[in-house]
Amino acid sequence: MKERIILHCDANSFYASVECAMHPEYKGKPLAVSGNPEKRTGIILAKNEIAKPYGVKTGEAIWQAKEKCPDLICVFPHHDIYEEYSKKLHEIYATYTHLIEPFGIDECWLDVTETAHLFGGALNLAEDIRNRVKTELGITVSIGISFSKLFAKLGSDIKKPDAITCLPKDNFKELTYLLPVSSIVGIGRKMKVHLEKMNILTIGDLAHIPTEILEHKFGVVGRELSLKVRGLDYDLVKSMYDEEAPKSVGNGTTTIVDIFTPEEVRNTIFYLAEEVGRRLREKKLLSSTISVTVKTCEFCYEHHSNKTTPTNSTKEIAENALTLLNSFWNYSEKIRAIRICCSSLSSVQIKQLSIFEPITYKKSSLSLALDILRAKYGESIIKTGSLKSVSFLR
Ligand SMILES: [Mg+2]
Repeated sequence: MKERIILHCDANSFYASVECAMHPEYKGKPLAVSGNPEKRTGIILAKNEIAKPYGVKTGEAIWQAKEKCPDLICVFPHHDIYEEYSKKLHEIYATYTHLIEPFGIDECWLDVTETAHLFGGALNLAEDIRNRVKTELGITVSIGISFSKLFAKLGSDIKKPDAITCLPKDNFKELTYLLPVSSIVGIGRKMKVHLEKMNILTIGDLAHIPTEILEHKFGVVGRELSLKVRGLDYDLVKSMYDEEAPKSVGNGTTTIVDIFTPEEVRNTIFYLAEEVGRRLREKKLLSSTISVTVKTCEFCYEHHSNKTTPTNSTKEIAENALTLLNSFWNYSEKIRAIRICCSSLSSVQIKQLSIFEPITYKKSSLSLALDILRAKYGESIIKTGSLKSVSFLR
């Protein structure tokens, strides 16, 4: 097998960097993206490079962060804008290869084996990406270049922000084997504890343990990990452009205050159905099973599903979800979170014609028209009548 050239590009402090790129007045100041202290989401979600030396940590409460860094600017998250920046990053990457596999909103693997020579080699190509992201988007990426996904990802973590690290096959061991095992993607806190008990502290320790021992202890995961850290990793970069059809499309929310009345529940369901319907239409899919999960303020879950006629209309999805919810919910308890999910997906082309076809068609065309408006002018350009008063939603 020809040696592969894989890049892992990781946008640094993504949310906070996008906020700084959007607002030059924040330049040079410590900034965090956070929830609202009055809501349940009053924690730090991300911080910029300037806030890091103060010890501001993701996941801590805003008041704790401000104690360490009194000048910390806290801004609300703007997920629509982060999605836009993520798409812009993908557009830049797509000029170098079509083999792009996103990993979360701000990370991607790129297989440039067949295209690197067109850009003067892998390092020049990576330099090009690094510079373009900085000048065109005003944010930075750190890039790892290696022969496998695992070491490319590790490379992007070694030097950051705005840096490139090469871990080639002939000396990746010297460059990585002294690093702690927890540097490897997929080794979480629990596994780290198990490994420590086996006296496996570094990547090198892991590579020197016989595969059978790791397989015996951790199953397939242990076996794969053992081979990967030795450089025997043939995991392909799965192109986002030939993505497999999803099995389900869902959306859920934790409300700011517990919701109670049928009207509040109805509004929440319509709010959630907007996104589910849009994603189904975008992927040209119809769903014929609706599921609703309700979490009460006592943290009890209720989950129910129902068969429906195939649809991707926001209104029908919302109505189906509401009918299902009303069949098991009696509004005697407060709700903390709701999730709706559409499954049993089929492609639009094979939709069965029904006597209600003209009505469904009209609903779908309305939904499609709304999608086009939103894609062109942004999410907030138009909301359906049912979403007029959803102040309790995030
Ligand atoms: Mg990142």
